[in-house]
Amino acid sequence: MMLLEIAGLETFYGRSQALFGVDFAMDEGEVVALMGRNGMGKTTTIRSLCRLTPCRSGAVRFRGKNLEGLKPHRVARLGIGLVPEGRRCFGNLSVMENLLVAATPGPWTLDRVNRLFPRLAERRNQMSNTLSGGEQQMLAVGRALMTNPALLILDEATEGLAPVIRQEIWAAISMLKTEGQSILIVDKTLKELLKVVDRCTILERGKSVWTGEPSALSDDIRDRYLGV
Ligand code: ATP
Repeated sequence: MMLLEIAGLETFYGRSQALFGVDFAMDEGEVVALMGRNGMGKTTTIRSLCRLTPCRSGAVRFRGKNLEGLKPHRVARLGIGLVPEGRRCFGNLSVMENLLVAATPGPWTLDRVNRLFPRLAERRNQMSNTLSGGEQQMLAVGRALMTNPALLILDEATEGLAPVIRQEIWAAISMLKTEGQSILIVDKTLKELLKVVDRCTILERGKSVWTGEPSALSDDIRDRYLGV
């Protein structure tokens, strides 16, 4: 059974159609990238699969279960941990409190998150709204992990961060991959992204147009679908 299967996804914002048929699937333990230029539907695909934006047609199956009709919190409880674009933490809670409110039983504990991101341990009693952007991003990832997700989704997790912090986030992603964590990633830094993913699906005007391993991504495909 696949971890995630998305078939024929069509999503509208009001009367304006954003997705015109998105198909892709991923196995347990895979790290998959959703790629494509700005506005091609990556965030909308993620929002649709988490049911934050309902889709008009198509199916999302997670471990064989159809997610149709479920509320976003039910999707989260099934094991999909989303780190949304523009990270949202509870600013008036401390780092530790932010992590603990997300905790569910499973292998991910406060200690393990602190080992993955030692900066969070150093800042444990600080209010999260006093953290740097990069630290807030680490906290957002740590919070998602505390829910012990079968699938972790990272939407632009390194956007707008200093290079050193970006490297720390990519290092954490590689470590998670080594540990067998399934991850779906959207990120604009292609070089780092292609080093870590097993497969990519490219979106063009709301449709999935290419799926393959990073090694199969030819210059022609890059120019056609990813060039600026
Ligand atoms: P980016 O990298 O810029 O985030 P993306 O590939 O994630 O791009 P989406 O954000 O999914 O793309 O946008 C897909 C399409 O849906 C775009 O045409 C966008 O203008 C439109 N869209 C996105 N959000 C909304 C919204 N809340 N209301 C109306 N249209 C929207």
